[in-house]
Amino acid sequence: MTSAGPHTRHPNLWPPFTQLARSEPPRRVSRADGALLHLESGEPLIDAISSWWVTLHGHAHPDLAAAVHDQARTLEQVIFADFTHAPAERLAERLSAITGLQRLFFSDNGSTAVEVALKIACQWWANRGEARHQIVAFDGAYHGDTFGAMAVGERNLFSAPFEDKLFPVARVPWPATWWDDDAVEAREAEALAVLSRTLETPTAAVILEPLLQGAGGMAVVRPQFLKAVQRLVHDAGALLIADEVLTGFGRCGDWFASRRAGLQPDLMALSKGLTGGCLPMGVTMASERIFSAFIGSDPSLTLWHGHSFTANPLGCAVANASLDLLEAEPQRFLGFEARHRPHLQALSRHPRVDHCRLIGTLAAFDLAVEGTAGYLNPAGPTVKRIAMEAGVFLRPLGQVVYLLPPLCITDAQLEQCYAAIGKALDQL
Ligand code: PMP
Repeated sequence: MTSAGPHTRHPNLWPPFTQLARSEPPRRVSRADGALLHLESGEPLIDAISSWWVTLHGHAHPDLAAAVHDQARTLEQVIFADFTHAPAERLAERLSAITGLQRLFFSDNGSTAVEVALKIACQWWANRGEARHQIVAFDGAYHGDTFGAMAVGERNLFSAPFEDKLFPVARVPWPATWWDDDAVEAREAEALAVLSRTLETPTAAVILEPLLQGAGGMAVVRPQFLKAVQRLVHDAGALLIADEVLTGFGRCGDWFASRRAGLQPDLMALSKGLTGGCLPMGVTMASERIFSAFIGSDPSLTLWHGHSFTANPLGCAVANASLDLLEAEPQRFLGFEARHRPHLQALSRHPRVDHCRLIGTLAAFDLAVEGTAGYLNPAGPTVKRIAMEAGVFLRPLGQVVYLLPPLCITDAQLEQCYAAIGKALDQL
């Protein structure tokens, strides 16, 4: 076995979302607890982005660890066709109750949860014998890296090599907003006009990230815009798919962003915080109305989709334990926005800070810097490096800097995150 040092690249690994010719070697992490990552080289780092937005309660949480351990000693895996088990049933009952969507279909991650939602939506129309092919998505959307998820996401650098393989999708502007934005209503009206025209074509489904587009640049929209979208989608008889892979489980200051925005989607994709960020799992929730169109003696009505690890009992057990934690202390996510606010207000006066936005556990702003907006803007890596030296792990999306910490972060740690950002801004 090759042993890589703390700052060297391993010869057998191919890391995600990384251009090796241009990036720093990764740091080795030996352990983590709460909001902290402990590097092999000794120093702690605050995980200010919850390790790609998954770590909900903090790292190595004892309740989650116990749930995995106990389940692993009881039933670690079983084929989920022909069999069922208590952790899956309990999770389905609980998620049905809090999403208002009665049926749960398991998969393995956020992308597959989206793929399943898209397949269900398309097949729902086929099963009913109605030809509806158009899928509508929003500019700037990100729904994952598998082919269907890529197709509905914004076409960009990441998807370019596969462009000819991606199915066509109609696009609508996303009227993102920020503090002191006085032109939002005009942008919303324009987006709704485009959506309305688009929906004149028979539409199978409209997919969106409720309230917050994540990877597309932490772009927040107002609840009233989403309510208007929902009205148009309903009037057109299309299905509404909420991709809550990022926004679910308290991230946006309520159990789900849909709930905060007053939406009742037909399908919902969940992952990331589902297991408290402890194990990979995705689920797609569907209404009973959707589900019922898949039942009948004709085999072609069946949703012929499944994954080897469907309803993995370890994932289900830890998802139930994560829900226990959220239910025990909802104030942790309901009140998180108030913890960010004074810090972001102070930061908003910095000349390098533009377009502040805040929702639930997410605080974000744009850097006022030269260069084109987008993932490759060089200011992001500079901020990342300076913050890292100050003990805080950030991963800006180009010129978009954001914090999305685990719920357990202490006030002192949060203060340290903002101080690190302030330091980076001063040095830009
Ligand atoms: N949808 C959204 C909104 C996401 O933010 C992500 C991941 N960042 C995905 C889907 C894909 O999830 P995964 O990376 O688990 O496949």
